[in-house]
Amino acid sequence: MLIDSHTHLDHCREDTGILVSDAAAAGVGVIIQSGIDLGRSQRSVAMAEQFPQVFATVGFHPQEAGLLTDEGQAGLEALAAHPRVVGIGETGFDFFHDNWPHDVQEDVFVYHLDLARRFGLPVVIHTRDAAERTLAVLETHAADVTVVLHCFSLPERLTEIVERGYYISFAGNVTYKNAVALQEAAAATPAGLLLLETDAPWLTPVALRGRPNRPALVAQTYEFVAALRGTTVDDLAAQVEENVLRAFPRVAAAMAGTYGFAAGGAAGAGAAQ
Ligand SMILES: [Zn+2]
Repeated sequence: MLIDSHTHLDHCREDTGILVSDAAAAGVGVIIQSGIDLGRSQRSVAMAEQFPQVFATVGFHPQEAGLLTDEGQAGLEALAAHPRVVGIGETGFDFFHDNWPHDVQEDVFVYHLDLARRFGLPVVIHTRDAAERTLAVLETHAADVTVVLHCFSLPERLTEIVERGYYISFAGNVTYKNAVALQEAAAATPAGLLLLETDAPWLTPVALRGRPNRPALVAQTYEFVAALRGTTVDDLAAQVEENVLRAFPRVAAAMAGTYGFAAGGAAGAGAAQ
């Protein structure tokens, strides 16, 4: 079974049901849908209730950080208790778009880390042009939280990140010709920390670059990264699945039977393609 560890079905143009069934046909048995504000986090949870393959993370993206009100916090806390909510985020810093003062972004980031700790959930990190401050905040505030670096972009900090035990999720941009540093990082990441994602509708893998991304296309990133690491797609898929179940305990709990489909079962039938 393939897993898309980070996506935005609600930003894709196509119908969610079609995207999910196309993904299933490509062997994708789990899709982790990321919220970026309260409304989209609520929609993410609704999708996770509707489709057994879909799980949600809830939070305010750093580009939306300044919009997090007391009401938003109460809303996130209500969602965090939901069994289909498997992580907090995406959160972090975005100094590229720079929509909000850095102190505001930091307050909201730290709030998410506290929320993750209180609910025993992993935190999904977005970081752009902010490596130093992201790693500093995580060092101070995330000692006892599972950290997932989504759309990994810090190959120059790989050693330190591996030492800290953060999960490292590569998106479709790892397949781009000029992404040499990222490709070296994807080859060097310890097997037990490696995740793969689409971040759809963005970052379409190179073969279809220019068209919108979709969860089914994570299969291309699996093929590319398996070749980089000198392994098979099946072995890579088994490793990533193990990592997702460890990093996201509520996915493991759901797949242990609550929602009626088991790891390695029917949902995995297409993974060998
Ligand atoms: Zn995202």
